[in-house]
Amino acid sequence: MRAAVVLLAACLLVLMMNATVPAWSRVGPPPAAQSPGVTISYLYDNTAPAPDLRADWGFACLIESRGARILFDTGAKPEVLAHNAGALHVNLTRLDAVVLSHDHGDHTAGFPALGQRPGVPVFYAQGFNPAVVAALGASRAKLVPVSSGVEVSPGIRTSDEFGTSIKEEALLIDTPDGLVVVVGCAHPGIVPMLTQIKASSGRPIHAVVGGFHLLQAPPAEVARIVAAFQELGVSRVGATHCTGPEAIKLFKETYGDRFISGGVGTVVTARR
Ligand SMILES: [Zn+2]
Ligand SMILES: [Zn+2]
Repeated sequence: MRAAVVLLAACLLVLMMNATVPAWSRVGPPPAAQSPGVTISYLYDNTAPAPDLRADWGFACLIESRGARILFDTGAKPEVLAHNAGALHVNLTRLDAVVLSHDHGDHTAGFPALGQRPGVPVFYAQGFNPAVVAALGASRAKLVPVSSGVEVSPGIRTSDEFGTSIKEEALLIDTPDGLVVVVGCAHPGIVPMLTQIKASSGRPIHAVVGGFHLLQAPPAEVARIVAAFQELGVSRVGATHCTGPEAIKLFKETYGDRFISGGVGTVVTARR
């Protein structure tokens, strides 16, 4: 009887611990035993929680799922991308694809860190600045301009190309809970992008991670955008990079433990 009570107490303790730590969002490399369906590891971000990681303005993350390894954006400085990948024990020598959201330097100028990548597909929005495309070509990668969504790996696609002056694409990862959407800066507007992605895919949006470009947005607009996320049924939000502190604060307050704090070393996991 006493043993049963102790066992019950231990089980309750484990349940309570699991309830307070969202299992899908944390900092640090994932324990191999957990082997989640998809992991998104932030390699480049404006903040870094540990002294051995370098913070710098820009964004890059590595998506790993079912054996596929996809680099989304590269940050601004090759040496910073290489440093953070090394510090996080993330091996960038084997990549199945690179997806570039838009042609701004804080998302593409870290690309030379990858060196020569003959034949590795690099997906970029068709309207990229030709000078940026020419620089990508120096890697001998296979350049793939995107105007409408293309498959990167089974169940993982680019979005259509968005925007007028700044062309941008997002990455869509299909999961049993809906799409996980990864964005760079969302210059064409995060809400119009998500609205179109949801309508054209016919899938719910489970999570959105990346930069939402709301640094200059007045508080009333930020409030409207957070409300629109809820109306769109977005379950989890990882607003970081160019989202801006005020918008990050409101997303955090609204989403509580369904908000994913950013910074280099953040690992987002989801079922697949
Ligand atoms: Zn940008
Ligand atoms: Zn940016």
